Amino acid sequence: MLALNLLLVLAFTAVATAEFVWKHHNNEELPLVLEEVHRKCPNISRVYALTEPSVQNVPLYVIEFSDNPGIHQPYKPEVKYVGNIHGNEVLGRELLLGLAHHLCDQYMNHDRRIRALIHSTRIHLLPSMNPDGWQVSADTGGLDYLIGRSNNHSVDLNRNFPDLDAITFEFERQGISHNHHLLKDLSKLTAPLEPETRAVMRWIMSVPFVLSAAMHGGDLVANYPYDESRSGAPVSEYSASPDDDTFRDLAMTYASCHADMASKSRRGCHVTSSDESSTYNFGKQGGVTNGAAWYSLKGGMQDFNYLATNAFEITLELGCEKFPAAEQLESEWERNREALIEFMWKAHSGVKGIVSDDAGFIQNAIISVVNITGPVPRPIRHDVTTGIYGDYYRLLTPGHYEVTASRPGYFPVSRVITVANSRHTPAILLNFKLEPTSNWFDEESSFGGYGHALRDSQPRIYKRSIYDQVAKSIMNNRPEK
Ligand SMILES: [Zn+2]
Repeated sequence: MLALNLLLVLAFTAVATAEFVWKHHNNEELPLVLEEVHRKCPNISRVYALTEPSVQNVPLYVIEFSDNPGIHQPYKPEVKYVGNIHGNEVLGRELLLGLAHHLCDQYMNHDRRIRALIHSTRIHLLPSMNPDGWQVSADTGGLDYLIGRSNNHSVDLNRNFPDLDAITFEFERQGISHNHHLLKDLSKLTAPLEPETRAVMRWIMSVPFVLSAAMHGGDLVANYPYDESRSGAPVSEYSASPDDDTFRDLAMTYASCHADMASKSRRGCHVTSSDESSTYNFGKQGGVTNGAAWYSLKGGMQDFNYLATNAFEITLELGCEKFPAAEQLESEWERNREALIEFMWKAHSGVKGIVSDDAGFIQNAIISVVNITGPVPRPIRHDVTTGIYGDYYRLLTPGHYEVTASRPGYFPVSRVITVANSRHTPAILLNFKLEPTSNWFDEESSFGGYGHALRDSQPRIYKRSIYDQVAKSIMNNRPEK
């Protein structure tokens, strides 16, 4: 009995003083670290698992920070970080565990910047998307460039997402204006979805994320869409998305706040002294690269986020070494800390608001934007849509824009805004009140090609859609064979 009491006291002491330790946390320790953060900060955090586990049945744990955990609130953008997608690229996993502790500790320490961030943003951290690969890599000493990269079915998870780039490039070639939420237009899957992919897809499609970063290792660079070349060929060519300016800005925010990602004088990870001018010497280009300009890949998570949802995701290559020694982790945290925080603030750049009518919020209204900063207006051919509270978030770089809210059955409304260069301030607030066309016309046919009807007048080619099949597959927990 005495021994039991002593044990309980010891256990309590251990819990009460549990400090975060920089080391490689295994798959059993990972959820304990997250639970410990939640125990310290119960009012601003929540730990949950994605809808299905890995092939080896390891849950994919997420910790969320918000002043209202578990609830999406209008005007509050949602951000995510995803680590350890390739099992042998482990720095992101440990940085996210450290970040969870940091957010909690600094919130409790009344750090004004962290408190403001958590009060205005809903943050989700998924430290490991590929715990099975991590295990294989850790078991073999973490030394190999490839062992542990894939999941337990030997599938590279960052090639397993539906290839929506091919669809958007085909629409571009045919002059079709449809440019967002393209999963509906998918006509075939080239490979079965892995459980980890399906879990993350379901997460991505069910939470209204605005901003995201996926963490890798093996180089030091912030990589932005598109990852796939326009021809689809495995070549290195710049493949700009409609939001190239914004994506470059997001990538440069991370790179410039990192200790030396953007350093022009640092040596590239894979550059020999005889090859100093190599294009892969990313420091020389500010620590950022377009994905396909580096090398083209199909089925990546980054482009899927942008083309299937309203989320803008970039890919962070966090260092030359994929599995750095435990002794290096704390200094890597110091090198990344500012960048990790500043990047999340970018969810507040641009404009946000609510679209409604007399009856209430309008979900799935379309927000389209024209950049009118220069002499020639430039439409940004990637619309975002409103969520369940009619809320939208449109990331933009500083400049002048015409923003239009539209929805079939309503007159579209446009407003001109100026996005200023400011840090740590909320996005410009721009709400829209739409008026149904039925208030003006008795019959829909009487207004013919007016207004929004023009916007969709171009022919849209519907291939035989497997959206329902895919949606069912990701909404079901039944694993595929
Ligand atoms: Zn990787």
